Amino acid sequence: MFKKILVANRGEIACRVIKACKELGVKVVAIHSEIDKDCAHVRLADESICVGPGPASESYLNIPSIISAAEISGADAIHPGYGFLAENTYFAEVCESCGIKFIGPSKEAIDKMGDKIAARELMMKAGVPVVPGSDGPVSIDDPNIFKLAKKIGYPLIVKASAGGGGKGMRVVATEEALENAIAMAQTEAKAAFGDESVYIEKYIEEPRHIEFQILGDSKGKVVYLPERDCSIQRRHQKLVEESPSPFISAHLRRKMGRAARHAAEAVKYVTVGTVEFLVDKSGHYYFMEMNTRIQVEHPVTEVITGIDLVKEQIRLAAGERLTFDSGDVKILGHAIECRINAEDPDRDFIPSPGKVTQFIPPGGPGIRVETHVYPGYTIPSFYDSLIGKIIAMGSNRAEAIARMLRALDEMVIEGIKTTAPLHKKIMQHDYYHKGDVYTDFLPKHIFRGR
Ligand code: ADP
Repeated sequence: MFKKILVANRGEIACRVIKACKELGVKVVAIHSEIDKDCAHVRLADESICVGPGPASESYLNIPSIISAAEISGADAIHPGYGFLAENTYFAEVCESCGIKFIGPSKEAIDKMGDKIAARELMMKAGVPVVPGSDGPVSIDDPNIFKLAKKIGYPLIVKASAGGGGKGMRVVATEEALENAIAMAQTEAKAAFGDESVYIEKYIEEPRHIEFQILGDSKGKVVYLPERDCSIQRRHQKLVEESPSPFISAHLRRKMGRAARHAAEAVKYVTVGTVEFLVDKSGHYYFMEMNTRIQVEHPVTEVITGIDLVKEQIRLAAGERLTFDSGDVKILGHAIECRINAEDPDRDFIPSPGKVTQFIPPGGPGIRVETHVYPGYTIPSFYDSLIGKIIAMGSNRAEAIARMLRALDEMVIEGIKTTAPLHKKIMQHDYYHKGDVYTDFLPKHIFRGR
């Protein structure tokens, strides 16, 4: 096991990782930007080092500064959390060359799965179904583009190969709109990821977003855990996640879980990762992408399986073996996570940073809260708007929903706008209760007519 881990992240995920390190008896170093010196993760860690000014490019993305912090503090491993450098092959490479273990998969696995076009090709070879689409990048100069688009069939979606966070995506309903959509997606992709490659695939109408948590060890063993349903999204970004999915039968779970395992095996995956699929109304499923890191929504899986994914991730990175199989994992109940973002849902989710004047988190039976917020904390405008997660667990879905509603009612958060009132509307909605939920739930049922 490692002696000291540096957590190259901030906020709720840094707090989560620090707690896992402490339970494993590993010393932990926090890094922070100048503006984050009072952030909760700094207080929780054994020691902390400032790595630069507020903007992420100068602090949480500042590789030389982070590596120096690891060397000065004598850390033998770095946990990247999610976002920032978590899927940065160059960072994983630099860690390796400095003799510091990057807590994640190999750089080859990050590379192969980080490029969506390459990942699609790899999955086709591994026999995992992908959404019908182009074989590689497309451009408006390609004389065959319209023929290809017609063959795939409208509506289509143009997606950035380097995409993430729902950016660089355009839905195209008709042939007339294709050229413009490709050009716009290319521009957006270039600005967001420095890579303008885009590809096209069939737009699956009213799909569910279903993903599988996988774990892999250095001996080549891979297991999958029960699915998470992340169909409630805003602008293609997740807002509510639950496990198990109300839609997935035990048979489909096994079939998709095995496909997820094949996907991970194809890149010799070690540590934890997530294989994402779209599922249409007939239960056909298609590989979408693999995220080579811990996910925001990992707690729903933890509470329904009793497996601590962050501790497993650290153990697996340290070379330990997996001690269980997919078949050993029992579903202990039903879990729902609501992402609390500092955003105004009534004003198109514009960020709402500022001082949290009052904060009383919910608690009681079946409620888990992951947050770095405390009364008097000022949410900076530099970073992601996620400020916390409420996870409700019940013996069944109805109990989980009732507990989530009770927790949302109980929570007091003042001084900023959050997504909490929107979550109440979702949790009270008939279609949500019925589990009749697709990725268009918010525009169709909550924001219709706006
Ligand atoms: P990102 O990496 O930006 O998160 P993903 O490829 O994971 O992008 O897709 C995010 C979301 O976009 C999906 O959960 C889904 O709602 C929507 N989406 C992506 N591809 C398709 C598609 N082919 N058909 C319908 N919706 C899609």
